[in-house]
Amino acid sequence: MSGVVGRRADLPSTFAPLLIDWQRRAGRSGLPWQGIRDPYRVWLSEVMLQQTQVSTVLSYYARFLDRFPDVHALAAAEADEVMALWSGLGYYSRARNLHRCAQAVVNSHGGEFPSTAAGLETLPGIGASTAAAIASFCFGERVSIVDGNVRRVLTRLLAFEGDLAQATPQRELWDIAQALLPINPSADDMTAYTQGLMDLGATVCTRSRPACGQCPMQGICRARQSGDPQRFPVKTRTLKRRHESWWLLLLRLGGERDRFWLQRRPASGIWASLFCLPVYGHEDDARSALPPASADALVPLDAVSHSLTHRELRLHPLLLELDVEPEPAVWPDGQWVDAALLDQYGLPAPVKLLLQRLMEPDLFAPAKTRGS
Ligand code: SF4
Repeated sequence: MSGVVGRRADLPSTFAPLLIDWQRRAGRSGLPWQGIRDPYRVWLSEVMLQQTQVSTVLSYYARFLDRFPDVHALAAAEADEVMALWSGLGYYSRARNLHRCAQAVVNSHGGEFPSTAAGLETLPGIGASTAAAIASFCFGERVSIVDGNVRRVLTRLLAFEGDLAQATPQRELWDIAQALLPINPSADDMTAYTQGLMDLGATVCTRSRPACGQCPMQGICRARQSGDPQRFPVKTRTLKRRHESWWLLLLRLGGERDRFWLQRRPASGIWASLFCLPVYGHEDDARSALPPASADALVPLDAVSHSLTHRELRLHPLLLELDVEPEPAVWPDGQWVDAALLDQYGLPAPVKLLLQRLMEPDLFAPAKTRGS
């Protein structure tokens, strides 16, 4: 249906009522961020749910609200504490923007979130789709979300042939999403509609196995009628990840309690501002960062793979066990951190896992990590 710019007459008028009815009957319910109109909580859940599954978000959401029950508490927090609570959720720019956004709401908006999608979009880290979700859930605004799940549902519904790697078809799909919105909806209708879009993409119209037989759109879906729903969305340019190897110095100081040597990462780039093991691009560089006797005692551990948005990392930990604290002058910059206090530090997910495995090897099976 490329070339049709959201003209109402070309679109199935039954889409919105079918979706609202289905969400109320069969959509997800009972999640802690559902059925509320508190923009702080809805915003927090929306940011956490970007790139992260519901089952993972649940415990983080509860811990965050426990520590930061409102936007004022979050704005007043130290950035390191926010990062530490986020540790393991990945995509850390979300946590940095979350903190900056809370400060903007408090400092520039008197502690109140703007009540329109356009106003919300001016805040740090709030994109168009997140703004639409908050505005529709909390303020009943008639505005559509268009995230990855929604793009998949709509392109299949309409057998939309436009290439979503290109800007024009992307804009066209935004227009279509707006044109499909329910007419004169109540606030409750907008909540059910927005939640329905999310639920349909996440639970029925999934990427690899759309459950068309259980879908409320099966009677009007053009991709289903074509017999090949997985052909949509059309996207010609696929992401290519660069492969890179990193060597991590895993310096462990024994004694009464374990301590690990951590450095803070640079303020920009991968794992920006997080605490991390010293990272090197070559094994020789890692070894030459230590006095020769220490370098000779390094033990290579099993490498782990870790996927980022644009990189495929191969992480090679090099372990050095120490009994006494070495002279600081011969050591890479950093600090010893008590193993019992690691939870208070924002650590990249694979580094956190590596340290946990080292402390409690029986608890872990080999794993491939992704996204932080
Ligand atoms: Fe997706 Fe199938 Fe439903 Fe169409 S009928 S929206 S392809 S699940």
